[in-house]
This record gives sequence, structure tokens and C-alpha cells, in this order.
Amino acid sequence: LRYCTNLPKVELHAHLNGSLSDATVLGLLKTRTQRDADPSLAAAEVTIKKGHQRTLEECFQVFGILHSLTDTLEAVQTITRDVIREFAADNVRYLELRTTPKHVPDRMTKKQYMDAVLQATVEAMVSHNIRVRLLLSIDRARGVEDAWSTLHLAKDYLNHTVFGPLVCGLDVSGNPVCGDLQDYLPVLQAARSCGLKLAVHLAEVPSETEALAVLNSGLVDRIGHGTFLHPASGGSQALHTLLKDQNIPLELCMSSNVKTGTVKTPSEHHLGLWRKENHPLVICTDDKGVFSTSLSEEFVLCAQVRPIRGQTFSFCEEDLHSLSLSGVEAAFLSPTDKQTLRREVQQELDALK
Ligand code: IMP
Repeated sequence: LRYCTNLPKVELHAHLNGSLSDATVLGLLKTRTQRDADPSLAAAEVTIKKGHQRTLEECFQVFGILHSLTDTLEAVQTITRDVIREFAADNVRYLELRTTPKHVPDRMTKKQYMDAVLQATVEAMVSHNIRVRLLLSIDRARGVEDAWSTLHLAKDYLNHTVFGPLVCGLDVSGNPVCGDLQDYLPVLQAARSCGLKLAVHLAEVPSETEALAVLNSGLVDRIGHGTFLHPASGGSQALHTLLKDQNIPLELCMSSNVKTGTVKTPSEHHLGLWRKENHPLVICTDDKGVFSTSLSEEFVLCAQVRPIRGQTFSFCEEDLHSLSLSGVEAAFLSPTDKQTLRREVQQELDALK
């Protein structure tokens, strides 16, 4: 773990409200209990400790609990600062944080929510050795109208002098059994036309028709999870070909997949299948708070997994270095910023040799 902690890392798939540590949740509970006296919310309810599991459906209930704790602008700023500080302490040098703009009646509009996240991000970057960019999340359970409003909000930020450079794209997430991503393709098309990058949760559960339509659209820059894309993990040859032809990087979240049971064991994770084919991969946390993990722990998990079915898992130090660098390559940064990050990460990696 110490070696992986010391590695300079890149985190590209982290949901803000899913990334809250126990310490942050406890702090929020304290202020909340003073305000609303709601003792039913306990930190133990929100994190899934080692060796425990929850279905995806149960995880979405957990997100509901977390959202009820982050329903003031003050709380939103606190969680953003805490999460960025914790990623920086784990030697994450570049973080793409994603979050769904929230409207809480009488408390905040979606714009106020995003302003609070962005303002706290600017402040946290001054205090910590980390660069951060934001993706606005479209929640597929909320419908297409809501997705258009998220896109308009993101577009408005592009001209903002301070926040504009921080907003790099859109994420599509939410409960994968709700809605159909095909309905969202016009929104994604419009997002791409105004220069926003797209990270889309795809095939987190088996969904061949939807995945084919999304990959056929040619709009996606990165894929979250992609659990059921490879023919050897429940996908199809057609999906495999589309992914390979477009060389779309996969954001892989081992703890998340195993704890929600979409992948049975780490050894059976699709990481091995894609790695064997030299496909671009990035190791990510997804929801480091909910899944009780860190990016360093995800690196350890991947490095320690025992290969099965001829998969090539066992990672040496050089492989871990190349995983850090593949995060740089898949980042939604301008070529110049990417060049700077690549140089910095490479220098730190060389110093570890
Ligand atoms: P937020 O967007 O900052 O509120 O972060 C929590 C939200 O991220 C959840 O309500 C989901 O919409 C989304 N999310 C987190 N993890 C997953 C996942 O594994 N699959 C799909 N959506 C997710």
C-alpha cells in the first residue's frame, strides 16, 4: 500500500457525493442533528466496509441518504473541500470530479449548487498540490428535460472567466436500470458540438441494445465501468469491435463492481480481459466513501489479484507506473495542460525508481 500511496496518480471517475469519507459524514451528521434532530442517519449506514456487499439498488438508497446530508450550500462547499483534500493526501495529482447539479427548494438552485462546488474547488486547489476539473453529471433516472438543463448550465460556465476552465465535460450516470441512454443521444450530440467531453456509464449492467446505440453514435470519449462489453464478460463481438475501433478508454472501478455484485470476484474483473488486449484503462474509485476505498487501495487491489481464465493481472512496478500515465492520456485536458501533467507525473515516477 505504501508504494501505491507514493505513486503520483490520476483519478478520472469520482462522484462527489459518493466520495464522502466517514469523517465528513460524521461532521455533517453533527450539524444536521443540531439543526433537524435526525438520529436515524448514522455513518455506518453509508459506507460498505471491507468484505461487505450491497446491490446497486441499495447503493442508490445510500446516495439518497448522502444527498439529504448535503442539502445546504455550506455543506456542498464543505464536502467539495474535504473530498479534494483527501484525494490530494492520497497523492492524486489530477482529479476529475463529477457531480449532478442539485435543486433543493428554498435552499439552492442547480446553478447555486454548481457555483458552490466550483468556488470550493478553486479554494482547495490553492491549498493542495492537486489540479481539479469538473464534469456535470446527467442522471439517467431524471429524464431528458433535466439532461438538457444540465447541458445548458455547463454551456453557461464555458464563458465564465474563473469557473470556465474548470468545467471540462459531462458525465452520464445514475441508476443503470432507469431510462434508456438512446433517448439522451441528442443531448450528447449537442454537448460535443460545444466542445464538452463526454464520459458515459455504459454496460454497468447487461444492456446490449443501449450499449450498441451509444457506441455507434461515436460520441463518447470515455466509458465508465463497461462491465458487460467484452465477449468474455457478457458482452458481444459487435460491442468489442466498436470499442476497439474507437479506442475508447475504460474507467475501471474494482471495489465498486465487486461490492455491488456486478462482478463476482476481483479475479473475474474485466480489467484482465482488456489489459491483455492492451486497451487503454484507468483505475478509479467511483465512490471512495460509499465503497470504503481510496485510489491507492484500488491500485493495490488490481496489483494483487490472482489471474484466472488466462487473464494477465499480476502487475509489476512498471505496470503501476504505466497505469498512472494512462490516466494522464485519458484526461479531459488541453494538449498543453496534458503535456505539463505528463511531465510532472513522469518526473515523480522516475524519482520512485
Ligand atoms: P453526486 O452526483 O455528486 O450526487 O454523486 C452521487 C451520484 O452519482 C448518485 O446519485 C448517482 O447518480 C451517481 N453514481 C454514483 N455511483 C454510481 C454508479 O456506480 N453508477 C451509476 N451512477 C452512480
